[in-house]
Amino acid sequence: MIVRANIENLIFNFSDFYIDGETNELFIIFGNLYVNKVFNDFPVNKIYNISMHIPKNLPEQLPVVYDICGQVSDTYSHKYKDHSLCLGTTMEIYIDFCNGMSLSQWIDRYIVSYFFSYEHYMRFGEYPFGERDHCLGPLEFYREYFCFADLPNTFEFLRKIKDEPYRGHLPCPCNSGKITRKCHGSKLLPLFQFNAMGQVCKDYDTIFRMVKKYDEQNNKRAK
Ligand SMILES: [Zn+2]
Repeated sequence: MIVRANIENLIFNFSDFYIDGETNELFIIFGNLYVNKVFNDFPVNKIYNISMHIPKNLPEQLPVVYDICGQVSDTYSHKYKDHSLCLGTTMEIYIDFCNGMSLSQWIDRYIVSYFFSYEHYMRFGEYPFGERDHCLGPLEFYREYFCFADLPNTFEFLRKIKDEPYRGHLPCPCNSGKITRKCHGSKLLPLFQFNAMGQVCKDYDTIFRMVKKYDEQNNKRAK
């Protein structure tokens, strides 16, 4: 099984982790994550006690990481009430797994960065690599992914693509005048190949609701 081999590789690379349990749906991994990283002269050298739930149907379901010893403050905005960590947007992590990211790479790319950002934020009140907030985070991800200059254009692009099949020979939904294949096709096609358009629709709905709420609040204030 692919996930099991992936986990064996993880335990080979991170010897402080071990499999603590297994259900029909997932593996439970426990252990110490050693973070030793310096960025802009700020060093973090610390051990974090975490548990990871790794679904067997990865990447349809994504792994979840829990801060089991309360090393991340409960008031931190990127920690959920069940003590799991908000590592990034669903879509970016999903695409990385679809592109072959191993669990070991996932730990380096997402969990180590998470703890480093946390310590940096607690020390300086700001994020070292920029922040994606919970609500606009997904839109910000799509903006970067599709290389748009601003969020409104990104939002409009999502609205156009979310319910349409991929048509490489037709004009690109970004209005560049080029056909899709020669414009955003190389970014758009993988989303279809990875079966990710359902997530695009979900993200669009979330962003839509948020923008509406934001507009309503602004209208109230203007009155
Ligand atoms: Zn385009």
